[in-house]
Amino acid sequence: KPRLYSGMQPSAESLQIGNYIGALLNWKSLQQTHDAFFSIVDLHAITVAQEPSKLRENTRGTAAQYIAAGIDPSASTLYVQSHVPAHAQLAWVLNTITGFGEASRMTQFKDKSARHGADATTVGLFAYPTLMAADILLYQTEVVPVGEDQRQHVELTRDLALRFNSRFGDTFTIPEVAIVKETAKIYDLQNPVSKMSKSAESHAGVIWLLDEPGVTRKKIMRAVTDAHGGVVFDRENKPGVANLLTIYSVLASRTIESLETEYAGRGYGDLKKGLVEVVLGTFDPIRERVAELLGDPAELDRVLASNAARADAVANETLATVYDRVGFLPRR
Ligand code: ATP
Ligand code: MG
Repeated sequence: KPRLYSGMQPSAESLQIGNYIGALLNWKSLQQTHDAFFSIVDLHAITVAQEPSKLRENTRGTAAQYIAAGIDPSASTLYVQSHVPAHAQLAWVLNTITGFGEASRMTQFKDKSARHGADATTVGLFAYPTLMAADILLYQTEVVPVGEDQRQHVELTRDLALRFNSRFGDTFTIPEVAIVKETAKIYDLQNPVSKMSKSAESHAGVIWLLDEPGVTRKKIMRAVTDAHGGVVFDRENKPGVANLLTIYSVLASRTIESLETEYAGRGYGDLKKGLVEVVLGTFDPIRERVAELLGDPAELDRVLASNAARADAVANETLATVYDRVGFLPRR
């Protein structure tokens, strides 16, 4: 089976619907045909300030959400990034072959550092992409399923792998990015031209997996649309409606065209009401399962520990080769 790697940051208590649609849904089907590694990337999460006790809770919570959404921790390797030290170790080596200018061109860094201000911008945030490259390359990954926002990072990963291989000899598999075009980017409901994110300043336009149903309903009913009227998919002129239609279509497994037909001549309120039902129908059972899983944290920790051991073994093999290739003296 081809090797697959992906991850999410435990940067909030709950995942948001973009993580579910852009990543988790895709992972769920890919895990059947791939040897999948799914990580809860806590080393990445601390590139912006996290409250320590919350981070610990959010890490368990993110694991529970992966499992509740259908990731099977006995078929896939689901583990916490900081449990496998090789990630940080390989990232350091990759930092030394990454150009400063090259890293400066990463749009996520530009966006996040602009949002947090120069004083809160850290070397860690700058080095996020080389850590992500280490995540992927450690597992000799062939496929990286991510949302559109991560494409640039996977491209950098490929460049670094090629560079390392040509300088030190064949070491890394060159990974391919796998993006589902239609669902690659879910937008904020209050600002439908900007990506929905866990770390958005305002939560008004973010649909959280773990929100109470009443909250989800309110947020969807208040989603920004436009003054033209008409349920038509037009990303350019009607980004709000296009976003709602995208979410609806994926969660209900229906084509956009069939939704346009159903809602032809009706108001946005009807579309939103329909969407509320579909979103709650998907998230209600997931929320219940998450509560069950978090009711037994010791069992969850055991699952994460055995998965980390599996990841550790694979990662250390690659790291040993890298250390040898760059000329580190082995500890005997
Ligand atoms: P943060 O704001 O902390 O960066 P995030 O919501 O962007 O959080 P990540 O943990 O950075 O989430 O990303 C996890 C996965 O979810 C990645 O594969 C990413 O591409 C995908 N993803 C994130 N936001 C969206 C979105 N709005 N639409 C589609 N996919 C998304
Ligand atoms: Mg992100």
